[in-house]
Amino acid sequence: MPEKDTTMAVDAGEPETFAFQAEIAQLMSLIINTFYSNKEIFLRELISNSSDALDKIRYESLTDPSKLDSCKELFIKIIPNKNDRTLTIIDSGIGMTKADLVNNLGTIAKSGTKAFMEALQAGADISMIGQFGVGFYSAYLVADKVSVVSKHNDDEQYLWESAAGGSFTIRPDHGEPLGRGTKIVLHIKEDQAEYLEESKIKEVVKKHSQFIGYPIKLLVEKEREKEISDDEAEEEEVKAVKDADENEDDKPKIEDVGEDEEEDKDAKDKKKKKKTIKEKYTEDEELNKTKPLWTRNPDDITQEEYGEFYKSLTNDWEDHLAVKHFSVEGQLEFRALLFAPRRAPFDLFENKKRKNNIKLYVRRVFIMDNCEEIIPDYLNFMRGIVDSEDLPLNISREMLQQNKILKVIRKNLVKKCIELFEELAEDAENYKKFYEQFSKNLKLGIHEDSTNRKKLSELLRFHTSSTGEEMCALKDYVGRMKEVQKHIYYITGESREQVAHSSFVERVLKAGFEVLYMTEPIDEYVVQQLKEFDGKQLVSVTKEGLELPLSDEEKKKMEEDKTKFENLCKTVKDILDKKVEKVVVSNRLVDSPCCIVTSQYGWTANMERIMKAQALRDSSTMGYMAAKKHLEINPDHPIMENLRQKIEADKHDKSVKDLVMLLFETALMSSGFALEDPQVHAARIYRMIKLGLGLDDDDAPMEEITTEETPAIAEVNNDEASRMEEVD
Ligand code: ADP
Ligand code: MG
Repeated sequence: MPEKDTTMAVDAGEPETFAFQAEIAQLMSLIINTFYSNKEIFLRELISNSSDALDKIRYESLTDPSKLDSCKELFIKIIPNKNDRTLTIIDSGIGMTKADLVNNLGTIAKSGTKAFMEALQAGADISMIGQFGVGFYSAYLVADKVSVVSKHNDDEQYLWESAAGGSFTIRPDHGEPLGRGTKIVLHIKEDQAEYLEESKIKEVVKKHSQFIGYPIKLLVEKEREKEISDDEAEEEEVKAVKDADENEDDKPKIEDVGEDEEEDKDAKDKKKKKKTIKEKYTEDEELNKTKPLWTRNPDDITQEEYGEFYKSLTNDWEDHLAVKHFSVEGQLEFRALLFAPRRAPFDLFENKKRKNNIKLYVRRVFIMDNCEEIIPDYLNFMRGIVDSEDLPLNISREMLQQNKILKVIRKNLVKKCIELFEELAEDAENYKKFYEQFSKNLKLGIHEDSTNRKKLSELLRFHTSSTGEEMCALKDYVGRMKEVQKHIYYITGESREQVAHSSFVERVLKAGFEVLYMTEPIDEYVVQQLKEFDGKQLVSVTKEGLELPLSDEEKKKMEEDKTKFENLCKTVKDILDKKVEKVVVSNRLVDSPCCIVTSQYGWTANMERIMKAQALRDSSTMGYMAAKKHLEINPDHPIMENLRQKIEADKHDKSVKDLVMLLFETALMSSGFALEDPQVHAARIYRMIKLGLGLDDDDAPMEEITTEETPAIAEVNNDEASRMEEVD
């Protein structure tokens, strides 16, 4: 809610004072008080706002042409005035109502305000401001006071004014009527007078705004020579003296020399009489006469031009990373320019209502920049424009949803985006930069876009057990596969560190196979959809049914172990009851006594962790979706062998239950699950520690443990102690 400091009568034209929203006030003083050399971008921001406002009124006029009655011409005009030290920018855009002025220029908080200040403090450049949606305030880089006069079709003309300092005023404006649009008057700071120079303004507009789709007119002062007769010259001299006192009058002051009169006199006379004077006048000069870039032949466009176009389209301060410029002809015709930025915007995955960044034009007329149907969500980081020859100009949002033409355009855009990524991937260094920023989008694409899943999967990169710091493509992994290896092995988890040391990876590595490390939360979604690559099945090393190629001897041993541990498995299952689905002998472990694997189709431990972290999830889904756990035991591990002997000797041995629980809980943690009841586990561990230290314990259920067994227990203990620290 806007805070109002005064309650003065509005009708009398008295100003109302409003306080800037706190963060905006903070941003303004940062802009005013911090030293930035790159101040010129203020003009780009104001012109970009004008262009947006013009886009809006033009779009509205497509369905209701009378909206343009208030002013037919769509333009941006820049007027420098050295005498008043003001720079004025006028547009005939949609304008702002009084409420718009209050809301848009100061009272409604924007998420970008804080984000931008943080970015600045972290060393970001001021020119990034536009990306954070607070570009207007860049006016205070060069002005100590800003006046905004605005007229919207639905309201009267109002004047917004602020010299910063935490507040602004609004009052009805009875000055020169705008018809419709916005006039921004910058009262230029003393040391910023260069922005009143024609040459400087031209340079800045050319640099940052040459591709704006509306004429940007600069009011320029010119001089011309004028021939006059002696008499007139005399008159003119007198006048010039007067004018110098009164200051410039822009209109040409001299009538044309009368030809008839002159013809009567002889030639010599005529020569004598002819004199020239310098005459000052002003005129509008259009600064951006360039044709829309996308209509030009790609062969004639330089990389610099693409860069400038990209920057003016996006308010980005850096050049694009890659561009694709193409046209489609035949049944359907359109041209498009697609840019991959260098950096993901600060709110890429934050804001569901984010614009999708592809501007839709119909026959050079801007239609909208938030047409959801034009590109799938996962590609919403791509910037660019599409100009269709076939869509109707007055197309509504509802019509667009079912529009066949748009579906074809979308399909083509996706295809071209992927082509662009593939081209990027040819240069590993460049691709690395791209992948760091947008791998999540590609992975989202794997999940969402079944048509292009195969192509997208070729663009993925992962760390693996053998690539070290580098990442590799699935194709490279497959290229390195052993002859006996049938599957692509992967593990999902929280970090590279954690998965690399996981007991699941042990055996696979020992068998000489490579394991893909999937450590981003979204990877869980990727593997739900990506079942195979190049004919090779993707197999999780943490799920049941991991079958590593075995020699005949190994197979034989496996069968023997199964029989040998049958009793143990049964007893353990009885003890754990519903906590696990089954208990089986495994050949996937080397150094760990046991592990928890999950069923083929349930969640993995990592997925369970991710889901639990989503606070708003209804806990009932956790019940049936939660990972189905299988306990796998390592028949070669001394702990397991010892336990087996204990069970064979006496199934009802009191210590067995406690040991099994301890093993199970420890396996849960080392397999990446969270303990439901860490206190119970901790109590068990403390009992073991007491035991290890030879202390008495009243309800010691483990008194039967003999010294003989202590080494194995101690091993669990140490291991556990360090894990407990990690959990904390
Ligand atoms: P952004 O342009 O990213 O929305 P700005 O700080 O540049 O952020 O502008 C804030 C808002 O003020 C705009 O969204 C728009 O609603 C309004 N605005 C600014 N300049 C104009 C203008 N020339 N005409 C109409 N509205 C404007
Ligand atoms: Mg803006």
